Amino acid sequence: MKILEVLTEYGTRSLDRTFSYAYFGNKAIGPRYRVKINFNGHLAMGFVLSLRETTDTPEAFEARNGYPLKTIQEADIVDEFPLMDEEMYDLAKEVAAYYFAPLISVIQAMLPLSLSPKLSSEHGPKIAYEKWVRLLSDKEDGLTDKQIESLRLIAKNSPILKKEAGSPSILKKLIEAGRVQIYQQEKQRLQIPLNEREEPHEMSEMQRQAYQTILDSPKEVVLLQGVTGSGKTEVYLRLSETVLAQGKTVLMLVPEISLTPVMVEYFSRRFGQKVAILHSNLTAGERYDEYRRIAEGKASIVVGARSAVFAPLHHIGLIVLDEEHVESYKQDNAPFYHAREVAIMRGKQEGCKVVLGSATPSLETKARACRGIYGYAEMNRRINEKALPKTQIVDLTDRKNFNGKSEKLSAPLQTLIQEKLKQHEQVLLLLNRRGYWTGINCPKCGYIFTCPQCGGNLTYHQEDGMLKCHHCGFVSRFPSRCPDCGNTHLRRVGYGTERVVKELEDLYPGVRVARLDSDVSRVSKQAETILKDFKAGKYDILVGTQMIAKGHDFPNVTLSAVVNADIGLALPTYRAAERTFELIAQAVGRSGRSSKTGIALIQTYNPNHYAIRFGATQDYESFFRYEMRQRKLAQYPPYVYLILLEFQSANENKLVSFVYDFKRDVEAQNFADVSTLGPILPYYAMQEGVHKRILLLRYKNKEEVTAYLQEALKRWNGISGVKIVVNVDPLDY
Ligand code: ADP
Ligand code: ZN
Repeated sequence: MKILEVLTEYGTRSLDRTFSYAYFGNKAIGPRYRVKINFNGHLAMGFVLSLRETTDTPEAFEARNGYPLKTIQEADIVDEFPLMDEEMYDLAKEVAAYYFAPLISVIQAMLPLSLSPKLSSEHGPKIAYEKWVRLLSDKEDGLTDKQIESLRLIAKNSPILKKEAGSPSILKKLIEAGRVQIYQQEKQRLQIPLNEREEPHEMSEMQRQAYQTILDSPKEVVLLQGVTGSGKTEVYLRLSETVLAQGKTVLMLVPEISLTPVMVEYFSRRFGQKVAILHSNLTAGERYDEYRRIAEGKASIVVGARSAVFAPLHHIGLIVLDEEHVESYKQDNAPFYHAREVAIMRGKQEGCKVVLGSATPSLETKARACRGIYGYAEMNRRINEKALPKTQIVDLTDRKNFNGKSEKLSAPLQTLIQEKLKQHEQVLLLLNRRGYWTGINCPKCGYIFTCPQCGGNLTYHQEDGMLKCHHCGFVSRFPSRCPDCGNTHLRRVGYGTERVVKELEDLYPGVRVARLDSDVSRVSKQAETILKDFKAGKYDILVGTQMIAKGHDFPNVTLSAVVNADIGLALPTYRAAERTFELIAQAVGRSGRSSKTGIALIQTYNPNHYAIRFGATQDYESFFRYEMRQRKLAQYPPYVYLILLEFQSANENKLVSFVYDFKRDVEAQNFADVSTLGPILPYYAMQEGVHKRILLLRYKNKEEVTAYLQEALKRWNGISGVKIVVNVDPLDY
């Protein structure tokens, strides 16, 4: 018989091991096939890791192990081929080890639903087929006029979609008469619009040098640091051209789904039909089709967001992460992978170049480039030699900056907007907060409306009149009275993007304002439409969260403003200053990109904060040096590594003593340079009846900690019903 070693579909730490099954059949099976298994009396999906022939018998097995060996039937085998190739499987193992994640959970994150090793994949979309009609003979004798009409239509267009080939009864007659034939063909659900071919720009001297530096670099990973508008995209395209000419493939990652259409257009204009798209906003069917198209080698360029780093491309010659500093490259739930780390793993595996592009690289990346771990190419001027926009900082603590018409938009900002509207130029307003009012409370009894699930603040959204928790997704209708004292006059505080739109419409009657934030972009294609319409001049002002500051090229925008630069500074994370600097620098970079000179304006309560000062002058190097000193003093990345351990339990007392026990266990190891911070009570300390505590591990020596943690997580797993969630390289705290 054969013994299969099978992972179950359950991605828990205690089940992160294989189970043995016997197989006596002849139908092909092997590593990386899915099989349906009986697991603890339940039907479950399994994923075969290995297979061995043995002379053992089930009876001998049972006698030796004390439990019966279950058998897999031929009918339980789900796949006809392995789900993924060996390289992808090796990548999954590497990702799982790096992120302390159960292997099956990584494999599930890599694959589209229909191919995922879980039982629910059976309900995923199947391959879709379309019926086509093909002409066999155009001889018209013996046919009726109606049939001839149909035949001529088909002859002219053959092959033609069956549903476009006229009445089914006539078609049937034509088939019987041997004139036409019907056949089935796989349907491609995602249609990438055909764009006109475009001849490449002549590269500027600066672009040519960056291109050459990257190709010649002895390092696999190269940081391309180019100021906004320096033409990084053209460098990506040229590198791609070179790699494609060698018969290799290209993986092009962008940080936000809303940025994919623009990048797809660039690549399809240059390279035609070779482009595939992968991101989580595709329908399950589209994703399945694209995935197979890539795996079958029918696409040689993949453009996509974070999850596209797992695209099943073969022979990758180049991986690009545009705007590598953007935090959405890190998944914010298990297995918490960062697309940059995974891209670098893949680059090593394939022996290909990984280009990290940014105007404001993350400190981690820049520090590695400075130390020579990564190669480095620089583009320090805009393509048209345009100066970067002048930046004005408005001090919100100074009442002189207000004119009584608005408490949100200062007088200097109002004046500038007025001016731009008159000149028919466009304005970008950034505010990293969604909704209308960001807090509701009762002035009489002090009641604050917080989320019953997680304790977070509730935001009022005027669009649908709902109170929403931006942390866990809880929603409820806006109440008419205070639930504590019944007072009907509730106080509304704070403001988000929706409120700014209203303010603009009141201040400038007739102004055309669009809004773009994750509420809007939840509806597919909506973000794409708004961005297109704004670019085409159908709006005067675009209000949005950070997603509008990234990567877009709006030639007619000559004013970009950050409405409240302090939101990011207040966040409880070591990255607060970096986030604020990036937001401001990106915002400034959106203005004055074409022939017209731009201006940027920053409203802030902290006009002297270094992140805001350096952001306003786009002085990345000074910010980098200053912030590196801060990180060194406070012992935060890139000087140390962090692992965040989140402990979860319904029983708070058990939870707390468990966390202290765990902390003591770490400390008892007497590691030279490992420290533990906590237990920390997280901001969202409870969710749906589950209490949470956090321990932060800070360390310099990866090997030491990794070996210990692998072992400790197994040993502590399941004790006292406490669940441990591991987040490697967390971006918060
Ligand atoms: P970045 O990503 O560095 O901010 P982009 O790649 O968006 O900059 O390029 C900025 C603008 O410059 C785009 O409109 C692009 O079409 C244009 N551009 C890039 N390279 C060239 C070139 N060699 N010649 C002319 N225009 C260029
Ligand atoms: Zn909540």
